[in-house]
Amino acid sequence: MILIKDKQIDYFVTLLHKASLKATPTRIAVLKVLEKEHKPLSIAILQKRIGEQKIDTATVYRMMQSFQEKGIVRRVDLRHTHAHYELATRADHHHITCERCGKIEDIPWCDLAPIVKKALCQSVTFTQITDHTFELFGICRSCADEE
Ligand SMILES: [Zn+2]
Ligand SMILES: [Zn+2]
Ligand SMILES: [Zn+2]
Repeated sequence: MILIKDKQIDYFVTLLHKASLKATPTRIAVLKVLEKEHKPLSIAILQKRIGEQKIDTATVYRMMQSFQEKGIVRRVDLRHTHAHYELATRADHHHITCERCGKIEDIPWCDLAPIVKKALCQSVTFTQITDHTFELFGICRSCADEE
């Protein structure tokens, strides 16, 4: 999704209002960073992108909690000691994470529908699958070159 600047702000304002949250400049700034980066971000990176003087760690943390509750962001577990967050409005997709340097790449599609369907057919206790996670781990090119 590429939106021109004002349209993008309007979109974020609507998104926040729908979630019964006030469209504060800080919240808009955080959403802009999440939109721009196109990969899950940690609290520390988010704070760095906004500017450490402008927002403290606890504020980013609380914001991500409330955004997650309201379905604005999704929490992604990439086996780091900390969580990563990305916009939940993005279509179902997955990630590859480098086991050495932690670099993350988006895989911008999902082909798991047949597997999900098969799993549901074989389940004896479940009638619905509402979500799934699928994360890949490997070695990125620059880490491989260092070998
Ligand atoms: Zn992603
Ligand atoms: Zn790497
Ligand atoms: Zn998927």
